[in-house]
Amino acid sequence: AKVTRLGPSPTGFIHLGNLYGAFVDERLAHQSGGVFYLRIEDTDDKRYVEGAVETVINSLKFFGIDFDEGATMAGDIGAYGDYTQSHRGPIYQCYAKKLVAEGKAYPCFLSEEEITAIRGDQESAKATPGIYGKYAACRDWTLEQVEEAINAGKPYVVRLKSDGVPFVENGPEPKKIHVEDAVRGTLEMPENFQDTVILKATGIPTYHFAHVVDDHLMRTTHVVRGEEWLSSLPIHVELFDKLGWEPPIYCHTAQLMKLDEDGSKRKLSKRKDPELSLEYYRSRGYHPTAVREYLLTILNSNFEEWRMANPDADIDDFEFTTEKMSSSGALFDLNKLNDISKDVLLRIPAAEIYDFLKSWAAEHAPQYSHMFDDRDYMLKILDLGRDDKKPRKDLIYAEQIIDFISYFFDDMFKIEDPMPEEVPSEDVSKILTAYLDSYDHSDDQSQWFDKIRAIATDLGYAAKPKDFKKHPEDYKGHVGHVSTVIRIALMGRSQSPDVWTIQQIFGEERTRARIGGYCH
Ligand code: GLU
Repeated sequence: AKVTRLGPSPTGFIHLGNLYGAFVDERLAHQSGGVFYLRIEDTDDKRYVEGAVETVINSLKFFGIDFDEGATMAGDIGAYGDYTQSHRGPIYQCYAKKLVAEGKAYPCFLSEEEITAIRGDQESAKATPGIYGKYAACRDWTLEQVEEAINAGKPYVVRLKSDGVPFVENGPEPKKIHVEDAVRGTLEMPENFQDTVILKATGIPTYHFAHVVDDHLMRTTHVVRGEEWLSSLPIHVELFDKLGWEPPIYCHTAQLMKLDEDGSKRKLSKRKDPELSLEYYRSRGYHPTAVREYLLTILNSNFEEWRMANPDADIDDFEFTTEKMSSSGALFDLNKLNDISKDVLLRIPAAEIYDFLKSWAAEHAPQYSHMFDDRDYMLKILDLGRDDKKPRKDLIYAEQIIDFISYFFDDMFKIEDPMPEEVPSEDVSKILTAYLDSYDHSDDQSQWFDKIRAIATDLGYAAKPKDFKKHPEDYKGHVGHVSTVIRIALMGRSQSPDVWTIQQIFGEERTRARIGGYCH
């Protein structure tokens, strides 16, 4: 069984990348009968935003991701807490002290001026971040000297005493380490040589140290995190080694990329791409299952094939594997999400879509709440065209669905398209008057269409489009133009599902009112 965790920093912004990672964590843990827990990484208090933890938990929950243990809304659950890093200060300090006692870390008293002096010019090897300590006298101080400096009130940080040798021009080749990554296979990297800070002057741990201590103590078996952490992996490997612990298996996930207008790939950016924020999907009303299914498509190269073979299966039945994850930047594409969303909504029963839309409207668009008053009416609307098993181009996300079906509601109905050019305005009212006269709500589809054809031929329109195309001089237009007139009077649009079916949903009264309303 695998133990995975999500370690968000409570900055208030939760993005698609967090969901992407959480999804991998969740699948790895739950597919193996393991545990997925939440740890709050709030040691960088400058970035802390009130309420951010609740936001993380709620957003992930909305997208179907629940934690088994960790810093939950109901308090800590699990035997390995406290799960909030800011509450764990003494634990990190204790391990830092142990490393110092064993000569594997040291308090470093360098002042800013001394660091600047060591670094010298930017070109020098000594300018590499994190290595200044290697050149400081305090690195080799005796415990008495350290004690004296502390008693004199000198501020200090605690640094790892790295065994690695800094790279110098024409010097010996740096040693290599080998690390197994679940996504990327065996990684060969130069060993760490930085005397990285593990405790800041305030006694607060850095990310490097906190995650090593926590992932060990909390029994994490798999660390899923973004590839931006790859470069510091050698530091973490050395820290695990110095502490005498087995490192977890790392899974460094690829960045989400986007194709720009010019066809080049670039990272999704918080500033340029609103779709990076999870809020984007919630406010537009994408169904969480659609977003999950979409993420699986970009996460696992064999998912689409599986979906084709198992069109009705629950996504939780898909066997997710890290080996099938892309290591080269997953390409994010909203059009693809929209296509998937259409398929997903076709699989979800209308009653469930009704509930989903209703709660979406209550939260994001209360002006539409009345659309849900007549449940049966709404269910018929949502069921339209489902039997053909063809995705409805108009069912993608709540905001767009509501806009599309607005013509079913009298207070939202408006004429959006012009009448066809082939039909002069005096014919429009003749067509509609004749239609109203002959209308019988109990007509079946073919009786109904016979009547339309009769109205068309009476007024000089071809009964079949192909007759009109062959001899346009004989006709004003054809039956299609005539039914478009009716369609627009009824629905305000020239493109819509089949007119007869719509009238069955409308009922007789609304159908007559719409046609009559257009005439006057
Ligand atoms: N707190 C880190 C972040 O938000 C977590 C990285 C990790 O999962 O180890 O980026």
